[in-house]
Amino acid sequence: MYAFSFSSFRLSNFDFQTAVDIISLRLGSPNRIEAPNTQPHKLVLCNSRKLLEFRASLKEMLNFDRRSILRILLGATAAQTARASTTVLRVGGASIEVSLDPQGFDLPQEALLDWVKSAALAVTGYYGRFPVPKAGVRIISAERKGISGGRSFGNHGAQCRISVGHSTTVADLKEDWMLTHEMVHFGFPSVPERNHWIEEGTATYVEPIARARVGIMSITRAWFEMVRDMPQGLPAAGDKGLDQTHTWGRTYWGGALFCLLADVGTRKRTANGKGFEDAMRAINRAGGTIDVDWPVERAFEIGDKATGGKTLMELYEKMRSAPVMVDLPDLWKQLGVERRDGMVVFDDHAPLAAIHKSII
Ligand SMILES: [Zn+2]
Repeated sequence: MYAFSFSSFRLSNFDFQTAVDIISLRLGSPNRIEAPNTQPHKLVLCNSRKLLEFRASLKEMLNFDRRSILRILLGATAAQTARASTTVLRVGGASIEVSLDPQGFDLPQEALLDWVKSAALAVTGYYGRFPVPKAGVRIISAERKGISGGRSFGNHGAQCRISVGHSTTVADLKEDWMLTHEMVHFGFPSVPERNHWIEEGTATYVEPIARARVGIMSITRAWFEMVRDMPQGLPAAGDKGLDQTHTWGRTYWGGALFCLLADVGTRKRTANGKGFEDAMRAINRAGGTIDVDWPVERAFEIGDKATGGKTLMELYEKMRSAPVMVDLPDLWKQLGVERRDGMVVFDDHAPLAAIHKSII
């Protein structure tokens, strides 16, 4: 029996299926493929031969989209996939190489490049510059409408891939959050799997703030969605803290909740002089990018030093192995951000109103 663990690849269901397809086509159907419903996905294969030598090339192939892989495996020339058109955008001091799938899109190329540029500008605003000097964005054309399947990698520099459906419209691109989310990942180091929540948490928390600050998304909507979605990050029964509870809610929104608490805590401590973005910028400037592996404590210590306190490390100590309940309705009330009748209203007289205005 062989086990593949793709902890550094974080296989989505889509990618997991891709991996299964590749293995079945290349090696012949193994006797058994187990797909336990856990994150990260682990492939367990029984009685397959040649598996060890295949392992490295499988990892490489997962960088391509599924249809390209199937084309290669089914005999079409590999060159077909290499004909993707490539454009280099310069944003926030960085070169971003955008490659478009040769399959084509209904949208003009300019619309897709504008979309990449807006996401890059949003992330540049938050980090103070684009968080890596060089990045690659691969846009894959997909059957399904809209934007899907965003994923970032740091094994060959900062790269992400994202799928855009043939019939996607400019309006869909304007609504998209996913590409900004992926680019936020570029600016934070890769940490051990148990701390994966901080990678997804920073991306989940920063993305709407970054987009609202540059006007791609309205401030009201950004807060509305944050108030609506943040409860998904609260611990449920049996929770063992962020480092030991790897559910979707705790990874994305539990991580985002950590960032929100760190942001509010830092701003309270510094009379609103510093915020979470100062920590994120410092971590990034110290070399914390997706293509390096760091212990999470190193990132938090650098972030804390930049804001002159211990907010991140103290929160981490508190939340890493215990289910910390947070009174979110009370926090929103103090911030002066209240959900009412399907929207959000701001109370400028709330005790922490200045803090919500500084965040977005
Ligand atoms: Zn993510």
